[in-house]
Amino acid sequence: MSKVAKTSENMKKCICMKCPSYTFYCKMKSMPGNMILMMGDKDKIHAEGMFCAYEKSHCIKEEKGCICSTCELFKENELGKGYFCTATDGK
Ligand code: SF4
Ligand code: SF4
Repeated sequence: MSKVAKTSENMKKCICMKCPSYTFYCKMKSMPGNMILMMGDKDKIHAEGMFCAYEKSHCIKEEKGCICSTCELFKENELGKGYFCTATDGK
């Protein structure tokens, strides 16, 4: 279970979209998801972001660099590793 709180405040802190691994296709796909997340049931909706709190990405397949270590939530929650978008350990 992830220790990162699934809040819209935290979602705004996620910098995944600026990451080289976050593809253009993923950006397009994430827009409605993120908007729904802000309004809806935060536990059931898959958002293409804040992968450290939610499940891994449905569209990021290649690891081209991870900038999680520069994210506020990474420091606040002492996450220790990155690449949550491709993680296979099932959170
Ligand atoms: S630690 Fe990484 S996955 Fe988690 S919110 Fe920050 S940038 Fe996104
Ligand atoms: S989890 Fe890391 S590698 Fe994946 S998109 Fe976010 S910053 Fe990039």
